[in-house]
Amino acid sequence: MHEISIASSLIEQAAAHVPEGKRLLAVRVTVGPLSGISADSLEFCFDSVAADMGHGSARLSITRIPACFECLTCGACYKSESVYTECPLCQSLERITYSGDRFTLDAIDVEDTHHV
Ligand SMILES: [Zn+2]
Repeated sequence: MHEISIASSLIEQAAAHVPEGKRLLAVRVTVGPLSGISADSLEFCFDSVAADMGHGSARLSITRIPACFECLTCGACYKSESVYTECPLCQSLERITYSGDRFTLDAIDVEDTHHV
């Protein structure tokens, strides 16, 4: 499950921004459906990985964004959180993908402070 290594690298990056003596409270990320990362798996393993790394107070906050598709058959634009969604108008799977491959560390919450 590669989400475990993703979780630990997120915590590593976040921890680098935590001032001495402060606790990391939250790690905020954005996950798109085409990022190759399962938000559910990440959420599932995050708490135990964080605890193992000495950041048991840290919680993961995930913003799930939909991907935007433009249908090549009928020209419709539609959004979906799944890559397997067909065009709602003509059921075609031929489309251009505009976004949805994002995976970013947006912000972290630290005791008393809030910074990126
Ligand atoms: Zn269509």
